[in-house]
This record gives sequence, structure tokens and C-alpha cells, in this order.
Amino acid sequence: MSGRAHIIGAGLAGLSAAVQLVGHGISVIVHEAAGYAGGRCRSFFDHKLECEIDNGNHLVLSGNHATRDFLRLIGADNTIDVHSPADIPFVDLADGTRWSVRPDKGRIPWSLMSSRNRVPGASLSDYLQSCRIMWAKDNQSVKDVISTGGVLWRRFWAPVIVAVTNTDPAAAGAVPMRQVFAETFAKGEAACRPVFFPQGLGRSLVLPAVDFVTAMSGELRFNHRLTGVHKINDKVAALEFGKDRIDLSENDCVISAVPAAVAQKMFDGIDGPNAFSPIVNGHFRVNQVFNVLPLLGVVGGTAEWLFSRGDVVSVTASAATSLVNLPSATVAVRFWRDIQAAYGLVDVPMPSFRIVKEKRATFLQTPDQLSRRPDRRTQWHNLYLAGDWTDTGLPATIEGSIRSGASAASAALVKMNKMGGNT
Ligand SMILES: Cc1cc2nc3c(=O)[nH]c(=O)nc-3n(C[C@H](O)[C@H](O)[C@H](O)COP(=O)(O)OP(=O)(O)OC[C@H]3O[C@@H](n4cnc5c(N)ncnc54)[C@H](O)[C@@H]3O)c2cc1C
Repeated sequence: MSGRAHIIGAGLAGLSAAVQLVGHGISVIVHEAAGYAGGRCRSFFDHKLECEIDNGNHLVLSGNHATRDFLRLIGADNTIDVHSPADIPFVDLADGTRWSVRPDKGRIPWSLMSSRNRVPGASLSDYLQSCRIMWAKDNQSVKDVISTGGVLWRRFWAPVIVAVTNTDPAAAGAVPMRQVFAETFAKGEAACRPVFFPQGLGRSLVLPAVDFVTAMSGELRFNHRLTGVHKINDKVAALEFGKDRIDLSENDCVISAVPAAVAQKMFDGIDGPNAFSPIVNGHFRVNQVFNVLPLLGVVGGTAEWLFSRGDVVSVTASAATSLVNLPSATVAVRFWRDIQAAYGLVDVPMPSFRIVKEKRATFLQTPDQLSRRPDRRTQWHNLYLAGDWTDTGLPATIEGSIRSGASAASAALVKMNKMGGNT
């Protein structure tokens, strides 16, 4: 008898697992606690702004190959804009200096020999010293391997690392950053192109994945929260969703794609990160389309990155512990001040805004917390783990969650094929 895969959670990890498994002809049911898919990467209609916005800006680069493969598989690659050639503009609000990071075509950044191509004020030796990140070890934080003083730190490393790890950049684990660097900047320009979602995250990454799964006879059950798990010997035997109980057959598998805290509560014996970090986003409906860059790194302000899409300018502040408990109106004033300075909108009054605070946006990516990440395999023979918090080797990102889902699906597939019934 062929088995069925029960996937718990319809965030990107769960959707990634589901699209892989339905593609292999496996019968799949995705159980999602919320009434919608996408988890921490979602779009919604905001009644105050009267338009659709994303819960937060998501920075993705062309070197995120699993994300690109996922988009192709679900037929959504045509919904993205890949900004080519790679060009990431920055402004330093302290003195108004502007520059762009333009990686070289090849792997060796020869152009940095000329000061014109460096971050203003940074020397060639600052760049050479940064290469030490490529030899980082598991227990090292960023501050153990690269200098956290100086212009290159302030104008390049700090804004990039905080965006990628959502952790104080000096305290962040160096190894996931090394991996990101190896898959993007160290590969040259073609791997560093910013990827934009002009129709929003939901219409690129989430809805097409849901459509793909259902078109392949998979099922998604929304408002179906896992509330209990029964085990017999070394296997998960039944899943409870409130009053609804599903007994698993011999060949069934379970993929947990829920956040770390939920997985640890539901399934015994699972280790995982237990400290989290907030991201605060602000969306401003400026009611006119300014001729501004779709992406701008901001140094020296409250805002760290500005994204513009249509007539909405959105702001991100990561590792935002000092902002998350402030009133939204106070946060909005600070963000708007930075938008005005960055885009030269000094006389423009603050438009309608929405502040979105994600208190547990990701786990805190320090070496200590990173060491708690579990493998996709568990002590329960038919249970696999997925999610950005599992041991992907990458920071907790879209790319990490998509890879984790695909990896859990391939482990489940091997097991289900062994049990017989699927080829
Ligand atoms: C504001 C913000 C900005 C970000 N910026 C970036 C960025 O710039 N670049 C980047 O790459 N990444 C970014 N990320 C990170 C990225 O969004 C996440 O890494 C990714 O979405 C995590 O996906 P996941 O599937 O692992 O987890 P989740 O999205 O958390 O999915 C878990 C799912 O499980 C469901 N669930 C929970 N409990 C149960 C239960 N008991 N039963 C059933 N279902 C349950 C949840 O409702 C959810 O849908 C950002 C995240 C946030 C919040």
C-alpha cells in the first residue's frame, strides 16, 4: 500500500516539501493552523492602506538557487524581476554620501583595486581582512573573524549581516554568513542580482505553490492546527487536530514544518533554538509613484532598507529590539524621517502607514543558538523536520526554508519508497 505524507505547516518549508512530494506522485495533506498559507512570508490586503502589502520586505538574491528552482517548479518564475546587472545602492544619512555595491563579473573582485569601486572611505586592506570570514568556525561569531570597526563594517558588513541574520551583526554566527557569501558575492555579479516580487510575496511564492499542490491532487487543510501527537514505539502513530484524529498507516510519513517552539512542544526529544529576534516593517502609501530605486540600503538611520513598489514605500529594521515595543506612531515618525532624507522628500507630509511588528521573525542567530539546530531526521522513524530553524547551514531565510522542505521531502521519499508502493 502506498503511503501518504502529512505536512504540518504551510509556510515556505511546508510548501516546498509538498511541491516536491506531489511531483513524485505521493499523496500529500498539508495541515495549516492559520486560514492562509505563507506563514512568515505572506501578503495581505490592508484596509487602512487599501492595497495589498507583504508582512515584511524580503531581500532575495539571484544566487538563492533553491528559491529560483522553486519558482520555476511552481510556474512563477515569470512573476519576479531580477535586477541586472547587480547594483545595490546605499545612502549614509550621517553625511548624505551615496554609493553602489557592484560586484565584479568574475569571482575575484579586481575592480576593488580602484578606490572608486570601493565603499567610500574603505581601503583595500579592509576588504582583504574581511576574507577571514571564509575560514570561520562553528563557534565563532562575526566579531571573532572580521573587524567590527571602521567604514567597511559600518557601510557594508553591518547592514548586510543584520539583514541576513536578523541578529546584532557583531554577535551573529559567522558560519551561515560565510555560506551566504560563498553562494552570492564570492560567485560574482550574476549571483548577486536583487530579486523583486512586484506582485508581492504571496502571488509569487505562496499562491502558485498552493495551486501547484492542489493541481497535483494534494490537499491543504486550513484552520487545521496540530494539537496532539501519539507515538507507539519509535513511530508517530496518530495526529490530533482538535477533535479530529488521523491514525497513520505503516507507510505514512509526517513532515513537521512548524516554527521551532511549536515543533519542540509537539514532538518530544527535539532540540532547537529557543531565543528569537524581531523585525519591524513600515509601509507608507505615498499616493504617487516617486522616481526612486526599488531597493536602497540605509546607514545611520532607524530604517535599514527601503523598498519601493508602486506607490508604497516600505522600510525594514531587523534585530529591532529597541523598536518592537514602541508605539507604532512613534516608529512611523522615525521611519518617515529616514525615507524623507533618503529620497529627498523633505516637504512631503507623512502619508497613511502600517507598521508590522513580527516579534519572533526568526530565531536569534548567534553561535550558541545555531548549535541547537536539529537535523531533518528525528528519533521517530516516520517524522522529518523542516523549517528555517533546522540545520540548513544557511541563515533563517526564504532560501533556507525552501531547502529544508525539499531536504525533508527527499528523506521522506526514500523512506516511503523503501516501505514499498512508490517508485
Ligand atoms: C518581517 C520578516 C522579514 C523577513 N525578511 C527576510 C528577507 O529579507 N529574506 C529572507 O530570505 N528571509 C526573510 N525572512 C525570513 C523568512 O520569511 C522565513 O525564514 C521563512 O518564511 C520561514 O518559513 P518556514 O516555513 O520555515 O516557517 P513559517 O513561515 O513560520 O511556517 C510555519 C507554518 O506553520 C504553521 N503552524 C504553526 N503551528 C502550527 C500547528 N500547531 N499546526 C499546523 N500549523 C502550524 C504556521 O501558521 C505557519 O504557516 C523574514 C521574516 C520576517 C517575519
